[in-house]
Amino acid sequence: MQFLRKLLKFLLWSILVVSVVLGILVAVFIYKVKNGFPVSYETEIPVITFPQGETAVLLFSKSTAFRHGESIEAGKAEFEKLAVKNDWFLYSTEEGGVFNAEQLSKFDIVIFNNSTGRVLNDVQQLALESYVEGGGTLAGIHGAGDDSHHWDWYERNLLGSKFSHHPIDPQLQEAPVALHPGADSVLRQNLPKAWMHTDEWYVFFDNPKMNNFTLLYTIDGEKIIPNGNMLWIRDKNFGMGKEHPVAWYRTTGNGKTFYTSMGHNATAWKQEAFVRMLENVVNWAK
Ligand SMILES: [Zn+2]
Repeated sequence: MQFLRKLLKFLLWSILVVSVVLGILVAVFIYKVKNGFPVSYETEIPVITFPQGETAVLLFSKSTAFRHGESIEAGKAEFEKLAVKNDWFLYSTEEGGVFNAEQLSKFDIVIFNNSTGRVLNDVQQLALESYVEGGGTLAGIHGAGDDSHHWDWYERNLLGSKFSHHPIDPQLQEAPVALHPGADSVLRQNLPKAWMHTDEWYVFFDNPKMNNFTLLYTIDGEKIIPNGNMLWIRDKNFGMGKEHPVAWYRTTGNGKTFYTSMGHNATAWKQEAFVRMLENVVNWAK
């Protein structure tokens, strides 16, 4: 009897300890996804030799919130291939020191490759804002559009809408991606009118076209299951309606911004049309 009581006590304590530890881990994970950590900024200015006459591409893959590790690496590899093919100068980094007025001014485009969380300090953020408004181009891929950045200018001018959630049940869904009529001819060049694509379809609160963005690709939002990704918000199953944008762009000041919500998995980079779309974005930025 004594032994059984001790065993029961041990079991109950074990369950309590495991529950508390699991609870802390889940809370830490959710905090990281929402806000990013640790917060550290690189301020050392890198030494970069810019070759004359080549299109200069800054591929920025730093993440302090959710890290799409496989997609980030696949993206780096594909951009290296594109740079060789097109004679671009590609500067790929995960450090923020390059975000200063002088060096940014030498780039034709800055691409946030699944960059999540607060990745730049105030001064670096302002340098990027001035760069875009002065005529530069900023592009964001997938995670670059989640709500972990806490940066008003960025959300307003790159996304034009606030991230709501992504589907979780199932997280990845296949859908036909359809070219939007009226999109810019450089961005559209050699792109198929439609292709089948599997991704984690981000849901935003509004259609960014409400904020003067032009759509490049959409999916039929009524054909996906847009269930929310927070355990306690099981009913968060609203989507963006039938016209569900997955790539869009706008002019911002004298510059341009482009965002695509595709690119959760490394497999996205195996899609010829996805890679060609990003190749077009660089040509559009020049
Ligand atoms: Zn994702």
